[in-house]
Formats: sequence, C-alpha cells, structure tokens
Amino acid sequence: MAASSAQGAAPVATVTNVQRFSLHDGGGIRTVVFLKGCPFRCPWCCNPENLSTEPEVSFKERLCIRCSPRPGGGPCATAPEDCPTGAKELLGRPRTVDDLVAEVARDRAFYEESGGGVTVSGGECLLRQDFLCAFLEACRAQGLSTAVETTLALPLADPARLVAACDVLLVDFKIADRAKSLEVTGIDPDVRDANLRDVQDLGARVVARMPIIPGFTDDAACVDANVRRIAELGLRRVDVLPFHQLGEGKYDSIGRDYEMRGVPQLTDADVAGVVARCEAAGLATVVHGE
Ligand code: SF4
Ligand code: SF4
Repeated sequence: MAASSAQGAAPVATVTNVQRFSLHDGGGIRTVVFLKGCPFRCPWCCNPENLSTEPEVSFKERLCIRCSPRPGGGPCATAPEDCPTGAKELLGRPRTVDDLVAEVARDRAFYEESGGGVTVSGGECLLRQDFLCAFLEACRAQGLSTAVETTLALPLADPARLVAACDVLLVDFKIADRAKSLEVTGIDPDVRDANLRDVQDLGARVVARMPIIPGFTDDAACVDANVRRIAELGLRRVDVLPFHQLGEGKYDSIGRDYEMRGVPQLTDADVAGVVARCEAAGLATVVHGE
C-alpha cells in the first residue's frame, strides 16, 4: 500500500521526485511532484518507477564503483542512503502536504515571472485523491497556480473539490478504441469522458494531451478518433507529445521489462501530420517534443 494518512493526521503520500524547472507540464516554469502508484500499464510509460505504490530501490550499474562486496556480481548489502555514488537509490519517500508545499513554494519567484506553478503527476495521482486535493488546496493557499496530469479514468471521489483546487487539468487521450485501450493499458476512455463532462460542468479548465506512440496511437484512425472526441467534448487545445525514450534506462535500473526498447524516438517533424489533423479540427495545437 502507498503511505496513507491515519484518520485525523496530516495527509501523507509516497513521492518519488520533485522536479524543478519543467516547461512541458502546464504552462510557464513548473515544479512537478510525482506521486507513486498507477493502476494502468501503458507499454510506453516513461515513469516506470511510479507504477508500484511501494518504495523501490533502483540500481545503476554504470555508477557503481564496487566499494562494497557484491557476491557473484549481484547487489551489495549497502543501504541506498549510504551508497556514495547514487548507484543505489531509494525511489519513493513518504511526504506530508506541509513539507511538500514548503519545498515547491521556494520557486515562487520563477512561477510569478513565467506564469508557472505546481503540477502533480505520477503514476496516476487520482489514486491518492485525499492527498492530491489537500496538497492542491495548500498550494492555492500559498497563492501558487496548480495543475494535474491525469488519465481522469478513475472514479472521482469529490469532483467539486478537485476542480476548486486545480487551475488546469491535463488529460490524456491515448488509445482511442475502448476495447484496445482496456486490453493494452487498462484505461477506460468512457470513464475518462464521463469524468471530463462532470468536471467541465463544474467549471474546470481542461487541456487534452495526445502522446503519439509508434504502433499504439500513431495511426490515422486513432489520431482522428481522438481529435473527434476532443472536439466533441468542447476542448479547444491539445498538446501533442511525440514518443521519446527518456524512460528506457529506468526500466533496467528497477528490473522491469520494457516493450518499447529500441523503438526510435519521434521528432517534431514526425508528428507534423498529427498536428495538421488537430489544426484542421480547429484545435489550438502545441507540440511538446524534447
Ligand atoms: S554502495 Fe553503491 S557504489 Fe558501492 S557497491 Fe554498493 S551500489 Fe556500488
Ligand atoms: S497512465 Fe501514465 S503512469 Fe500509468 S502506466 Fe500509463 S503512462 Fe504510465
């Protein structure tokens, strides 16, 4: 189980990373907080360290200087916090709302200068809606702008509370065909769309995101179906996210299989056709390549 709050205690969640100076996750300079845990399994996931709700230890062979015995070439017995090079690293620590807010508030000047703020990502941060809403509310109380990256494909415990605390929801449109999406990723686009209508009725600002993944979401039928759905839902903007391989090394370091190994990354030029389809449907389109 992920770290959770005892009744009446301050909310706590397992956080893998607080990434400063991000430019692709909600406008302006942002600090992205990654909550650990996702019930879905996209083969292209670039944050495999955030799939399990449990803390994990990663190991990077290239950083290991063999300062401790490694019987048979296997792992040493040194605790991650005592590894001198970062070859061994603990992924996921319990964080309270208060200590996270104190950390993200340090970059207030950058947010104010750039129109940025704080973005909560994962994993799927809707797994921890109690913590998520408490954290967003605390950020707001500090005058910080808030965004959430999500599939929006889990039941919403309190949509009004989420909408009230979040300036913008960044919602994924991946495999458009429902049966294929359920089979490949476990994500139900119908649940997403029902939730999306609910939060829009409550006044949410929503930006669609379309990861373009070779063999999964890059065919014309999938792109067109997503574009149609985005337009039908009344959304005006889509962020196109070309496939990248930034997560590849993470799979090795935590011993997970990776289906997309060796698949070439996509450039902005590779997604020009997708952009044209989005723009033809009247959507303001931004490409977030690396
Ligand atoms: S402590 Fe770190 S660097 Fe030393 S052997 Fe263990 S993993 Fe390698
Ligand atoms: S929903 Fe996001 S975090 Fe979960 S498996 Fe898919 S890409 Fe990874």
